[in-house]
Amino acid sequence: MSQKFLFLLADGMGDWPIESLSGKTPLEVAKTPVMDRLAKEGVVGTCATIPETMPPGSDVANMALLGFNPETYHTGRGPIEAAAQGLELKEDDVVWRTNLVTIDNFGPDGIMRDYSGGHIHTETSRVLVNAVANACGSETFEFIPGVQYRHLLVQKGGASAPEAQFDIRPPHDITDQPIDRDYAVYAQSPRLLAYLNCAASVLAEHSDAGAVTNLWPWGQGKALRLPQFADLFGRRSAVISAVDLIKGLGRAAGMDVIDIPGATGLLDTNYQGKVDAAISFLNGGGDFVFVHLEGPDECGHGGQIEDKIESIARFDKLVAAPLSEAFPDAAVLVCCDHFTPIAVKTHTKDPVPFFLHAKGLPASGVSAFTERTAQETGLHIDKGYELLPYAFSQIG
Ligand SMILES: [Zn+2]
Repeated sequence: MSQKFLFLLADGMGDWPIESLSGKTPLEVAKTPVMDRLAKEGVVGTCATIPETMPPGSDVANMALLGFNPETYHTGRGPIEAAAQGLELKEDDVVWRTNLVTIDNFGPDGIMRDYSGGHIHTETSRVLVNAVANACGSETFEFIPGVQYRHLLVQKGGASAPEAQFDIRPPHDITDQPIDRDYAVYAQSPRLLAYLNCAASVLAEHSDAGAVTNLWPWGQGKALRLPQFADLFGRRSAVISAVDLIKGLGRAAGMDVIDIPGATGLLDTNYQGKVDAAISFLNGGGDFVFVHLEGPDECGHGGQIEDKIESIARFDKLVAAPLSEAFPDAAVLVCCDHFTPIAVKTHTKDPVPFFLHAKGLPASGVSAFTERTAQETGLHIDKGYELLPYAFSQIG
């Protein structure tokens, strides 16, 4: 039986020094006694999770951290989330990740106000998605409901269509910025623009729309096909996350995907539910569990310093602490997928800090687990998809 393995990931936790925190990062300010101790006793370093040729998306980074080279396997964010839903795609289909967003004045002069449509709840979003799908349905586009503001638009036969090459920015990258560049791209496709305009008029008249004004399709690609995690690493594995992209990666890799009621991806997520699920999976014969917390990333996108600090402290207290206590002999790998600095409210490509704690490893002796201490050890993993094989090789 192989050693139990806990891979705990705090999405977007990494940050830059912040002036109002006296030049410290949220991770440096947050109270994280458990991670600090485990890092001190374990191996600490940095890892470049994003290939040079690719944008710093959570999809790219988490695919790499699960051991898959994104340059080989990544077809888009939409296909990963389609996998999460078990959506069957034909080889010539393209699927777009589609946000319900808030835009001032959708058009050449529009401004992206909120990538999440006011953090709309799933039940309401379903009503809106169905209303748009019913009113705007076409032979080419099928709009499929997902979770909260995150949905899917299937473009039938899209693999060979011009839209497959469109470069639309993720809406969370352009908060409060003009959308002229992206609008000009949408406008190159009369059928896509017609669908988006139809959706906008449905939403404008819908009493449940709240802050949601528009659809924002992006991250399109063909179906995701991954090798199986068990074949690669010989371990029975599971992913636990509130977000579809992690579930999609897990499902495509043949991992167990454990749904947690009340897991929201926000600061108030169901920590206990995630921890309990991880414990029962490992006690039930599982070897490896990937527990993903979205909270720090959302706070980074929102520019909320205090909430980001709090979400990191909760990650330590409500995830790292109970899990490392429940499995004192397990290997523990902790990192983030990318930085989401408060200063820029979006993802960056900075190498991320990580630590690996397991019996028999040389102790790093670091004073705390931070971006700075991780860099100072000099240990650097140059490719994100090599971190997990590295960790498995270290624990024997
Ligand atoms: Zn992320």
